[in-house]
Amino acid sequence: MTSDQIDLALPVVQAFVARAQSSFVHGERVAHDDNTWFDSLDPATGQPLTQVNEAGAGVVDHAARSAQSAFDSVWGSMLPAERERLLHRLADLLEANATELAQFDALESGKPVASVEAIDVALAVEQFRYYAGWPTKLQGATIPVASPDSHVYTRREPLGVVAAITPWNFPLCQAAIKLAPALAAGNTVVLKPSELTSMSSLRLAELAMEAGFPPGVLNVVTGTGPVTGQALITHPLIHKISFTGSEAVGRHLAAEAGRALKHVSLELGGKNPHVVFADADVDKAAAYAATTAFFYTGQVCFAGSRLMVERSALDQVMATLEEHARGLVMGGGLSETATMGPLSSELQREKVERYLQNAQDSKAQIAFGGKRPGGDLAAGYFLEPTAVLEPADDDAVVAEEIFGPVVVVQPFDDVEELVSRANAGNFGLTAGVWTRDGAKAHSVAARLKAGTVWVNTYGDFNAAAPWGGFRASGLGRDCGPEGLDKYLQTKTVWMALS
Ligand code: NAD
Repeated sequence: MTSDQIDLALPVVQAFVARAQSSFVHGERVAHDDNTWFDSLDPATGQPLTQVNEAGAGVVDHAARSAQSAFDSVWGSMLPAERERLLHRLADLLEANATELAQFDALESGKPVASVEAIDVALAVEQFRYYAGWPTKLQGATIPVASPDSHVYTRREPLGVVAAITPWNFPLCQAAIKLAPALAAGNTVVLKPSELTSMSSLRLAELAMEAGFPPGVLNVVTGTGPVTGQALITHPLIHKISFTGSEAVGRHLAAEAGRALKHVSLELGGKNPHVVFADADVDKAAAYAATTAFFYTGQVCFAGSRLMVERSALDQVMATLEEHARGLVMGGGLSETATMGPLSSELQREKVERYLQNAQDSKAQIAFGGKRPGGDLAAGYFLEPTAVLEPADDDAVVAEEIFGPVVVVQPFDDVEELVSRANAGNFGLTAGVWTRDGAKAHSVAARLKAGTVWVNTYGDFNAAAPWGGFRASGLGRDCGPEGLDKYLQTKTVWMALS
């Protein structure tokens, strides 16, 4: 029995879902080299949506060779203005097909479709438009060496074939964040989406063909991390691994990249301190705290998952948090009324529940939530939005990324204590600071160990603004000029003038 939600999808999405999903290489879906298929499930119902082929070493090799051949024959030498034109065309096609693309991600991830269209698809379009402006601006430099007989200059050159490996929680958007700069820099790509969310990446590859990208420039291999992903990252034609996902897998990929001396960049998890000082606009801060704790069921790397509140503002913030949580409507990705989706899988829900049980065992208080809803939602992987009040700093619920609708709330009494406790974990992706005191805002923003600090706001993101983690949250930056640099290498040319 397939998921009931399919009936709510556009006919074109229904037709796509009805096909089994296999890899896309050199401009077409390829036959699989073994017979391993698995179901992609709708997390809102637990029912199958579509079948996905696990690409083995043969398909991965075909994809890597196709990407190398496209790099050698056409993409690496294409005029920058032509690459720019194709990237703009792809952005236009993504925009024109926004509803369809949003439905793929909403079905497979369970995220509310309206938000996926307004946020994820819009961010994907923005990535292609931003990086479309770059191919014509990739300049080298002339170097004034201390020799009258030498003309020395640099060239910015692509790396070759890039492996782009993406997580399930922002499938289309993360694919765009990798593809747009990698392609703009002149690389070709083999993209491996998460095994939970293959469809939007496959559709993106089809749209790239429609835009006029030469076959082989963008290939998609479907399958799980240990099989398809592992074959991809260890393939000798892959020169760079660009990864977004969990810390554990990131560490493994970094080790593999080290062994083979491949370039690697990692965008990993976070446990993000979201700090509310009592001198802030507490109404606004509390509203943001509530929204960003449960946005996309808390399954977001930048979730405001560790809420640190100056003690005198605690009651007000807790009241807003609870009121917001009670107003959230749980439901499937294509439901018109749902404002919060399910967890990604049964395993993930059980993991979140273990965190909550352990926190209670060590005397933290579950302020609200923590239960599975019944009725129509019982078959899906839903869990109520939950707040854990005053857990100890060394409790796993504080130190680790839970990736669920769980916010831990920790009161604090002064700035020094706040900074030291907020910086105590391993992660360093994002942080938020709410205060009306400008000097305090700048001072705390400078002292927090995080790749992004939002002051009197939270969650803003733009293709032009560097994004990435300190410490265990990653290596390298997405977005902006730095997001392009990691897909380029510098060549120095010395020319004798005499
Ligand atoms: P995950 O690490 O389980 O999987 C990510 C990808 O890696 C998937 O495509 C998976 O198949 C692949 N993979 C797994 N093992 C592999 C292997 N041995 N070789 C090659 N590929 C392999 O992560 P997930 O559950 O899909 O995503 C959630 C995680 O992603 C969270 O930790 C979240 O914080 C993080 N994330 C970070 C950012 C960021 O910008 N920093 C953005 C989104 C998500």
